Amino acid sequence: MIPYARQNIDEQDIDAVVEVLKSDWLTQGPMVDRFENDLRRYCGADHAVAVSSGTAGLHLAYLALDLGPGDCLWTVPNTFVATANAARYCGADVDFVDIDARSWNMSVDALREKLEQAQRHSRLPKIVVPVHFGGQPCDMPAIHALAREYGFRVVEDAAHAVGAEGPGGKVGNSRFSDITLFSFHPVKIITTAEGGLLLCRDERVAARLRRLRSHGTTRDAAEMTDGSQGAWYYEQHELGYHYRMTDIQAALGSSQLRRIEEFLGRRRALVERYGRGLESLPVICPREDPRVRSSWHLYVIELAGSNPDRRKVFDRMRADQILVNVHYSPVHLQPYYRALGFKPGYCPNAERYYARALTLPLYPDLTEEMQDQVIESLGRALQ
Ligand SMILES: *Cc1c(COP(=O)(O)O)cnc(C)c1O
Repeated sequence: MIPYARQNIDEQDIDAVVEVLKSDWLTQGPMVDRFENDLRRYCGADHAVAVSSGTAGLHLAYLALDLGPGDCLWTVPNTFVATANAARYCGADVDFVDIDARSWNMSVDALREKLEQAQRHSRLPKIVVPVHFGGQPCDMPAIHALAREYGFRVVEDAAHAVGAEGPGGKVGNSRFSDITLFSFHPVKIITTAEGGLLLCRDERVAARLRRLRSHGTTRDAAEMTDGSQGAWYYEQHELGYHYRMTDIQAALGSSQLRRIEEFLGRRRALVERYGRGLESLPVICPREDPRVRSSWHLYVIELAGSNPDRRKVFDRMRADQILVNVHYSPVHLQPYYRALGFKPGYCPNAERYYARALTLPLYPDLTEEMQDQVIESLGRALQ
């Protein structure tokens, strides 16, 4: 059995976790501080805030930028449902911008057109959320320019893109956005089992994120409205959540981060090998924009031809114990979002892409022999 993705845990990772289990702190403590600092430095960001999951991170990012009832958030349909759902947690409306047919990321042309229309109807979004699909950074300089022109905020959903680089440097430095989100679910680039992290440049946004992840409370005497009444004293200033990461998870994360270049290099080598191995098959391989460096979270191919039978290819490969997958069923066509009024045809590029997409296995422990099995199985399945 070959999964589409899998974590890589070594003895050092295990030792790091065991050490925390023997220490005084299990919940958020010194290891969370260290993990935040490690990633802040790695990405060149000013502030990092670790949270319990990527989804919790999106929820807090939207709240910290004041998304609420009556507001609208735009994202792409080619993402995990969490990107859109977190806006619904805030009581906001969600709308979708179609993807580019080549990069499978948010189309800047579609975004510009939609903004022009929205301005005419006075219905501009408060937040736009580009998703770095498969680890390939979106055109952030262009999205940033539109944000200045139209006055919206930008959250980068970089769940796939830890270690990726765009025109402005490492994803996470948030040069072209307000907040960047990472996820550390086991299928992603590095893992903390469950976990997420928010990166930003604005000190006040970071402080708000920290407060919101812990019930909306603060222990900072400088923030007290009622003066500090003693060392025990904390105040709740708004309605927050319990979205903290544990020291157990953070220790695993810091340990994993030590091997990130190895993980990224291995993924890249396998991607190049896929490119050569798939050359003679009727499939379109993923393209890396020459201006960026993808983290290659996913290896997605598109089946060529006018009406390829993706279901047949998928079922045949699964029968060979190759656990191919499909990323993503367009979010606007999920029954929950259809019930809000979205219909087929709303985002034609994302829908056309979805009908042909197939995610092949890609992870650091995938061996060349296993990769050859995948390629052979795909060749047979396409016949
Ligand atoms: C995984 C993922 C998330 C959610 O992350 P979790 O850590 O699983 O909550 C959000 N957006 C995208 C694009 C993802 O792939």
